[in-house]
Amino acid sequence: MNTEELNEIVKEVLQEFNEQDYSSSQKESDKELGIYDSMEEAITAARRAQKEYQANFSLQERETLIAAMRKEMGQHLEELAQKACEESEMGRVADKIIKNRMAVEKTPGTEDLKTEAYSGRDGLTVIEQAPFGVICSIAPVTNPTETIICNAIGMLAAGNAVVFNPHPRAKNVSKLTIKLLNKAIVAAGGPSYLLTAVKEPTIQTVESCMKDERIIMVVATGGPGVVKAALSSGKKAIGAGAGNPPVIVDRTADLKKAAVDIIKGASFDNNLPCTSEKVIMAVKEIADDLLKYMTEDKAQLVKDPAALEKIVLNEDGSINKDMVGKDASYIMEQAGLKAKGNLRLIVVDVDFNHPFVQKEQLMPVIPLVRVEDFNTAVKLAVEVEHGNRHTAAIHSKNVDNLTCFAKKIETTIYVKNAPSYAGIGVGGEGHATFTIAGPTGEGLTSARTFTRRRRCVLVDGFSII
Ligand code: NAD
Repeated sequence: MNTEELNEIVKEVLQEFNEQDYSSSQKESDKELGIYDSMEEAITAARRAQKEYQANFSLQERETLIAAMRKEMGQHLEELAQKACEESEMGRVADKIIKNRMAVEKTPGTEDLKTEAYSGRDGLTVIEQAPFGVICSIAPVTNPTETIICNAIGMLAAGNAVVFNPHPRAKNVSKLTIKLLNKAIVAAGGPSYLLTAVKEPTIQTVESCMKDERIIMVVATGGPGVVKAALSSGKKAIGAGAGNPPVIVDRTADLKKAAVDIIKGASFDNNLPCTSEKVIMAVKEIADDLLKYMTEDKAQLVKDPAALEKIVLNEDGSINKDMVGKDASYIMEQAGLKAKGNLRLIVVDVDFNHPFVQKEQLMPVIPLVRVEDFNTAVKLAVEVEHGNRHTAAIHSKNVDNLTCFAKKIETTIYVKNAPSYAGIGVGGEGHATFTIAGPTGEGLTSARTFTRRRRCVLVDGFSII
């Protein structure tokens, strides 16, 4: 045995010893179900739990734990929505309840994992979906509890453990979510600490988590900074980044329905979802009618956007984070404008180069751009999506137009004649997720995304034909 091999064995033994030693003292002292003072402790606990989970829990047993997680979280949808709004000072409670429910009920479990088999004269080969190990999952402030519930279900269904890195502005509700999930797992007979986090999450704790050699996969759900950091981590990384979803309305659209659908989608949770409509491209012949139907419903047109610009944008032109996810009526009030009674969405009629068009605002203020014709709408919508390949929507009855835009925009989610949230399973078919991996291409993530494929080959046997 050479020195290198000997060092490797010593390292393994020491790590094993530390994990055992740590877990016994932790069990006595830690009442907080998976929440640790340091990242080192959070990773150590998750790694130990993952080893036990992988060795001793069958797929069926994983599913029992997931059922328990769903049941427990189903009892806290409203509490978590309320707390998320209070702590982050963003969003709408009623919409966050819907998002939490989607995560609980429509995130796929172990049924998402499929074994492939090849049989023939040479025998039988199976390809199975195995866990990665411990995943570092970074969550955004815009969907704090939904992302944790959804990723916990998918990542555990795949056999992993997770170290969560919640956004500092939603750390308390995120820690509560993790504790409730762990409580349900343990009560159903699962290992302690399959889900962990640090008490005080910061960008530095995210960095130390990503760098740790025991972390095998990094899943970043957030803006461009964190996606770039994850992709530079040297680990298998999944990047679920920013979007700027355009919605086209052409002259064949059912305008009344388009108006109502856009208001519903763009004001859902005050426009916090990365999938929400952020720019309307209206063909010029129908733009006035579309605006008329929108303002007859829950939208209000602000003719001179100057007052809004002052509070939506900072002096350097960046987005004022204090307005992100705020109610439309609050934004109007801050701008010194009078809001109508049932207001959900503010509309401004601006040209293509306006910053409200070009920047992802994440607030219920939507720009409408009048365009010459459908082809111009497509060209500008592709431009404004900035290559994020995230989400786009269209209202049209022309099949050629519906198809043409889909081909040109190349987004991960494409919604036709419905509010954008249909694309994540709210009133649309298909599973729900809050981690939509455009940059790295996994799309709407689910359990199978968090697995590695392994091939097992048996030659000259087990084929019966
Ligand atoms: P954010 O990028 O500010 O923060 C997200 C998380 O990353 C937080 O936990 C934060 O602490 C961490 N973080 C931020 N910068 C980092 C860096 N440089 N290094 C390490 N960690 C870092 O985003 P946010 O404001 O919380 O969320 C809104 C953004 O996320 C929007 O751009 C939205 O489109 C996007 N988003 C995307 C998806 C998706 O599935 N594609 C889902 C939700 C949100």
